[in-house]
Amino acid sequence: MSKTSPRPIESSKKRSPALAARPSKPTKKVSKKPAGASAAPAADKSEAPKSAQMVYYFGKLKTEGKAAWKMLLGGKGANLADMTSIGLPVPPGFTITTDTCAKYYELKKRLPLGLMNEVHKNIALLEKELGKKFGNVDNPLLVSVRSGAAASMPGMMDTILNLGLTDAAVEGLAKSTGNRRFAYDAYRRLINMFGDVVMGVSHEHFEHAFDKLKRKHKVDLDTDVSEEGLVDLCAVYKEVYRHKVGEEFPQNPFKQLELAIEAVFKSWNHDKAVSYRRIEGITGLNGTAVNIQSMVYGNMGDDSGTGVAFTRNPSNGDSAFYGEFLINAQGEDVVAGIRTPQTVDQMPRWNKTVHAQLLKIKGILEKHYRDMQDIEFTIERGTLFMLQTRTGKRTGFAAVKIACDMVKEKLITEEEALLRIPAGDLTQLLLPSFDPTKKSIAKVMTKGLPASPGAAVGKPAFTAEEAVERARSGEKVILVRKETSPEDVEGMHHAAGILTSTGGMTSHAAVVARGWGKCCVAGAGEIHIEADKGEFTVKGKTYGRDSVISIDGSTGEVIEGALATVAPEMSGDFSKVMRWADKYRRLRIRANADTPADAKRARDFGAEGIGLTRTEHMFFEGERIIAMREMILAETKEARVAALAKLLPFQRDDFIGLFRAMDGLPVTIRLLDPPLHEFLPHDDDNQKQVAAALKVPVAKVRQRVSMLHEANPMLGHRGCRLAITYPEILDMQVRAIIEAAIECLQEGRRPIVEIMHPLVGTRRELALLREMTIATIEKIKSEQKFTKKLDVKIGTMIEIPRAAVTANEIAEVADFFSFGTNDLTQMTFGYSRDDSGTFLPHYIDHDVLESDPFQTLDQGGVGQLVEMGIDRGRATKPDLKIGICGEHGGDPKSVFFCHEVGMDYVSCSPFRVPIARLAAAQAVLKAAKPK
Ligand code: PEP
Ligand code: MG
Repeated sequence: MSKTSPRPIESSKKRSPALAARPSKPTKKVSKKPAGASAAPAADKSEAPKSAQMVYYFGKLKTEGKAAWKMLLGGKGANLADMTSIGLPVPPGFTITTDTCAKYYELKKRLPLGLMNEVHKNIALLEKELGKKFGNVDNPLLVSVRSGAAASMPGMMDTILNLGLTDAAVEGLAKSTGNRRFAYDAYRRLINMFGDVVMGVSHEHFEHAFDKLKRKHKVDLDTDVSEEGLVDLCAVYKEVYRHKVGEEFPQNPFKQLELAIEAVFKSWNHDKAVSYRRIEGITGLNGTAVNIQSMVYGNMGDDSGTGVAFTRNPSNGDSAFYGEFLINAQGEDVVAGIRTPQTVDQMPRWNKTVHAQLLKIKGILEKHYRDMQDIEFTIERGTLFMLQTRTGKRTGFAAVKIACDMVKEKLITEEEALLRIPAGDLTQLLLPSFDPTKKSIAKVMTKGLPASPGAAVGKPAFTAEEAVERARSGEKVILVRKETSPEDVEGMHHAAGILTSTGGMTSHAAVVARGWGKCCVAGAGEIHIEADKGEFTVKGKTYGRDSVISIDGSTGEVIEGALATVAPEMSGDFSKVMRWADKYRRLRIRANADTPADAKRARDFGAEGIGLTRTEHMFFEGERIIAMREMILAETKEARVAALAKLLPFQRDDFIGLFRAMDGLPVTIRLLDPPLHEFLPHDDDNQKQVAAALKVPVAKVRQRVSMLHEANPMLGHRGCRLAITYPEILDMQVRAIIEAAIECLQEGRRPIVEIMHPLVGTRRELALLREMTIATIEKIKSEQKFTKKLDVKIGTMIEIPRAAVTANEIAEVADFFSFGTNDLTQMTFGYSRDDSGTFLPHYIDHDVLESDPFQTLDQGGVGQLVEMGIDRGRATKPDLKIGICGEHGGDPKSVFFCHEVGMDYVSCSPFRVPIARLAAAQAVLKAAKPK
């Protein structure tokens, strides 16, 4: 075997079983659980029966589904079956499986054979259970048809209510309810919804016809239209339907049902649903289930109503029942944010019994699911019905508080609490908030509801499209809307914050913003928006597209101008979660920090050392850049050494600061990495300035700049190639490090020094660098007559594929490895780190890549090289210390990977240290969980 050939791959036999089981290519799977993680009964499709059954019934006669079958029945369907099983008042119905949706697409959008037979049988069961008949003239059975995938996608897919009404059945409904006005109101809603959702007739055609009718009947509000008016309206709506669709509104309820089922399947692939899944990172699902459930009515009068609630506050996590309801309203009226609802606290004034019943159900649900629930309910003539329960989306703040409270309440264990907090959502607790000292003098223009915490500053954008466009061109915008709808998700995603003038805490804007941890103020009723003019008015003052505003999602305040923010602190429940995480994790967490201030912040956040100091970042400011430029422009070694001598004191001071901030903890200092020409001035003015400062003709500066120009600088004269070709650079940097360490030792501190060489690709390179480094260290020790022990390790980044492949050889001359996965990704994919913005978004939008490999480590490719580097490095030195310092070190999924492949530590930016601490603990707990 030649000296350079890699060791046999057998060394990988030492891998953990979990690692050995991992496929070389990542498989697609549900990569995102609804924020707030999973409810107690696991979403495990394997528990569901493998049968050809397409429809599962839930009701008093029988309940076939289970909470655990979310992949098969969708979240809504599985929980409807589960709530029925535990005796909650759920209107009976049945669920068509997600597999059936997948089959529908396999069959090129045709319903599978036998499906409608099963549907007929289940309708017959419903008829038996309720004593009603589908399409009957006397006592018709009506159903809702709703989507429901395994991961929650609020409002992204279709719903049809009151299905089963026909010209004959509407009279039956009038008879059975004794309320003809109500029956025709339900009919006009069906024709409108069915026309819009199923047949694609734009809602505005119906809206227009309704406005005309209201004018004819001389009323303003929908609710003021008389019974005859609604009868008229149904006739007009059927006419609109016939005109636009080219056929009559279907009078056969089964025909309605078949078309509605198909529409729900189709809505799985509507643009808004596809966008939502992409933004949320939801992949690997089969499709949507379809829930067909007997109707109950919240719009049967003032003793009826409908509402949504959370069993705890989803914004701040307080353990109080939290929700809203509307009296005499149907279906989506609350979520759509069309009318501002009342809070559930106000419910006892309206109906004490129902309120008490809801509180009891809150307790039952929390005990059963052992997590915060998001519920939908309807009250029909004083009787309460549960229409949905699911794990409630929550902000990062709420996730932490709820998890800690539930441990206190003995509902869950510490381990479960840790697994339940999405590590990435901790970012929200680490975001700046408005500076309270500046706030007291700020001009608060108005106040809305504190729908989703955070502090956002930007200029108003009035449509989703405008928000996307302006955000893409680099502006910070606040999306200002009367209310938002699922069509607005792209705009909401791009905006820094969201402000609405109507809708409550459970409106679309509030729910979606909270799910993303985006700052949102909802229902600021004093704001009058004129989107056409691009302005809004508050108390007589107008704000346009150029007005800067600040919104505080924690208080609901809307403020004129840009308010200053302050950095967050870690305290209370947050630090408790961190303490728990530290108990379980095996990985050490370090930070990438270039200044003492960064190092201190990182240590405050729990960093256990520095994993990467990019020394080039220390050369950009003030006098340093001039000395740096002098060094680069030097034409002789002597001139270069003289310039470097000017840089030495700056570097030494920087390192003293870092060693003090990280006293007793390891500090990895990487020697100069980037191409030298990055430091040179490229425009005329700057070149003149440098020439003057250096007292050389400007032509000389120009000449040197052009000499240093490289066609491909990322693959050029950079990294350790600099130190090998200009050893005096290494000499100065190592001197600064060692002199700083000796000074700190003499102060009584304990500096732990790790000198890291970048961009090494061969053993010979590192061997040379090691020799040079040791020689300089020895020279300084003898100059200073220093004889005490100095803790210095010499290691390398592994960021070139060749280094990973020959890691067994490189390890012979390395004390440690640190994977530079930014460069390793760049070189493995052949994607330029600086230019991938031109094509990567397209790749991700079009599913060419599952995610951005510069954010989440590509386990199937780059990860293979990482594993190889670890295996081969440790084959040479079993105790070789190994970490990661690329951006992936703070990405939860990548942290799991680093744990699995047996790294010793991850290093990330200071603000991501808490995320990495939690993710590292989750990696241990997930591995321990029975599969
Ligand atoms: C890396 O390449 O992953 C790394 C940490 O170094 P840099 O980003 O400075 O190139
Ligand atoms: Mg690098």
